[in-house]
Amino acid sequence: MICKECGAKIPDGAKFCGECGWVVDEKEAKKAEQKAKEREKAKMKAESPVEVLRLKRKVRKYRILTWVFGILFVLMVMAFAGANIEDDTGGSGKVPDGGFALTGTYVVGEDAELEEGVYDIYSVDEYSADVKIYESMDDLKAEKSTNESKYIEWFYSKETKGYKLRSGYVVVIDEPGAMFVKR
Ligand SMILES: [Zn+2]
Repeated sequence: MICKECGAKIPDGAKFCGECGWVVDEKEAKKAEQKAKEREKAKMKAESPVEVLRLKRKVRKYRILTWVFGILFVLMVMAFAGANIEDDTGGSGKVPDGGFALTGTYVVGEDAELEEGVYDIYSVDEYSADVKIYESMDDLKAEKSTNESKYIEWFYSKETKGYKLRSGYVVVIDEPGAMFVKR
C-alpha cells in the first residue's frame, strides 16, 4: 500500500503509516497506489526513445519556425528601409553617409544639392547606372529630340576619381538611389 498523506510504502495489513502516522484507509491507499503507478508510467513514457525522438522533432520544428520568422522579419525591415531610400530619391533625400540619393534632372548651381564641386557618384548596381551629365540644357533638349548621344555619360565608383560638376551642367539621374557624395 501507499500512504495517501506522505507517499511512503505501508506494509499490507498495517493500521498506521510508519512515516507520518496516517490512519490507513484501504480505499484511499488504493487510490494513492494507482496515482503513483500512473506517475511512473508517464515518467517512463517521457524517457522512452520514441518519446525523446518525438520531443526532439517538436523542438526542431519550432527552431525552424523561429528561423523562418526571423528571416521574414529581417526581410521586412530591409524592404521597409529600401522603400524609405526610394522615397528619398525625389531630389531632396539625404543618405546617412553625407551623400545624396537623387533621381531626376538637376541643373548644377541652381539646385541646392548639386552645387559646383567634385562628386563621387555611386550606384546601387554599377552596371545599370544611368547618370548623364550634359554641358547645357540645349544639349539635353537636342539629345531628347534627336536621340543623338550628345551627352557625356559618366559613372564614378569608389575606385575612380570624382567628377567635377561645373555650374550650368545638367545632370540627369534615371536610377533610383544613385548617390552623390560631395568631396
Ligand atoms: Zn504516511
